[in-house]
Amino acid sequence: MEKDKSGTSSSKCSHKSWDFIWKSLAPHRVQLFCWKACFNSVPTTKNLLNRRARVEDVCVRCKETGEDIYHVLLGSEFTRVVWALSNIPWNVVANWRCDCEEWMRHVSHNVDTKQFGWFLTLCWGLWNNRNMKLMENDSETPQELVTRARNFFAAFCEATQTEPRGREVQIPMEWTKPPNGWIKLNFDGALSKDRKFGTVGVIARNARGECVGWKARLLTGITEAVLTEAEAARTAADLVVQKGWEQIIIEGDCQVVINSAIHASSCSAYYC
Ligand SMILES: [Zn+2]
Repeated sequence: MEKDKSGTSSSKCSHKSWDFIWKSLAPHRVQLFCWKACFNSVPTTKNLLNRRARVEDVCVRCKETGEDIYHVLLGSEFTRVVWALSNIPWNVVANWRCDCEEWMRHVSHNVDTKQFGWFLTLCWGLWNNRNMKLMENDSETPQELVTRARNFFAAFCEATQTEPRGREVQIPMEWTKPPNGWIKLNFDGALSKDRKFGTVGVIARNARGECVGWKARLLTGITEAVLTEAEAARTAADLVVQKGWEQIIIEGDCQVVINSAIHASSCSAYYC
């Protein structure tokens, strides 16, 4: 098993399909985390140190040095216990060969749709658990983590299974498509006040739900959550300008940023 030699977002090809994540049977926030993980734009200790942030080079869970995305999702004793409890075949999960994207794609080819959604949800759960430990010093056991993630995933599956049996299974999403001819951008910002970093992600999709553009960034020196959201909204606006889109819908969950964007906006954009 090789460790992440990991590329940055700029080294990833923008033309390949990310449907294996965006059309997966997983909640939108899980998809967004996994997609950022594929671009190595998750604020692991190693990524922060690479950006000269002042953080201690240690994993909050096991105190080992060199916490990267491989360590968070697969490389530690803690994560191995989680995967052992998951019922996803270990020989599939253990197959990390070069980076997170290749790993997730490999798993998607080797398990069924529901199991892959469960796999992605657990990846998100591992990151979440690590952040709970970091921010609140809340130590969840591997069993508690798996139970929490399982309840979250089960609630998602139940809420989205609206199709009667025997018909084509709809891929459930919390996200709804924009009208024909429109592009919908979803943005998201997250911040750690302790560590003074933020992450932003923007994904643009057309009326068929296909990804037509994206940007992911890691920010350092940021202290306010609203600034992270504002950076995310600005990143979305940059993408719109860069692509020359005219009919756009921008969706985010920070009302302050959206209100100011509505007041500042002169183009035909809907913010929701
Ligand atoms: Zn660790």
